[in-house]
Amino acid sequence: MAASQPLTLAEFFAQPRPLKLIVTDMDGTLTQRGKFTAALLSGLERLQAAGWPVIIVTGRSAGWVSGLIHYLPIAGAMAENGGVYFSAPSTAELLSPIPDLVHHRRQLGEVFAQIQHQWPDLQASQDNPWRQTDWTFDIGSRSPQDLKGLQVACQRLGWGFTYSTVQCHIYPLGQSKAAGVQKILPHHFPSLSATEVLTIGDSPNDESLFDPQVFPHSLGVANVLDYWERLAYRPAGVTASPAVEGFLEITERLLGHLPPAPIAATPRD
Ligand SMILES: [Mg+2]
Repeated sequence: MAASQPLTLAEFFAQPRPLKLIVTDMDGTLTQRGKFTAALLSGLERLQAAGWPVIIVTGRSAGWVSGLIHYLPIAGAMAENGGVYFSAPSTAELLSPIPDLVHHRRQLGEVFAQIQHQWPDLQASQDNPWRQTDWTFDIGSRSPQDLKGLQVACQRLGWGFTYSTVQCHIYPLGQSKAAGVQKILPHHFPSLSATEVLTIGDSPNDESLFDPQVFPHSLGVANVLDYWERLAYRPAGVTASPAVEGFLEITERLLGHLPPAPIAATPRD
């Protein structure tokens, strides 16, 4: 088997996995054509009932994500690719060290204006006004070469760049989904380490969650294969089905083949 060949779910779960927490992406991983499904809600309810805490870690804005923790049976929700965390409604925790958010957003707007000179068709995303830490624009049908050019342009200006199936993100260096998860674990799940977390995703803005040195237990839903050659880190295993159907495959494995590992989110203070 080639080194980059992912495991099937059967192979993945045949190995010992001391899993206690599920960290999952949202768009393209929990959705079907951009929407939540009845089967997803049922799956999340069953995971919660069995004692599996689920944290959604997404690139979506703080404004959008603040509602998820209110409406879904989940333990937490992280917005802006590791920028802001919600353990309950109205409990936004800023995870990036940004002393002045007004100044920060002005800087992001200036960077976006600069790269618009080279790519004048860029359109700020619908959820951009509800962001705190990053700036987004619609990905549309941009080619891999175009995306690489945008990454280089942002790097030259001193900012990070990543993208998902829906958006491109300009963000402060050091911010990532993995860094965000590592920041919240000691506070919200003090008995857990990253080696007990199952990470799940589908696209380049999830690649930090696939770093085996940090998260040895990672899975991609089948649509992650669309990006396989572009990923710096790849998930250890991949589901047979894409998007939410792939997530539900994982759900069935967790519910049927591993003992539940109930652990409450217990803030330290
Ligand atoms: Mg995604």
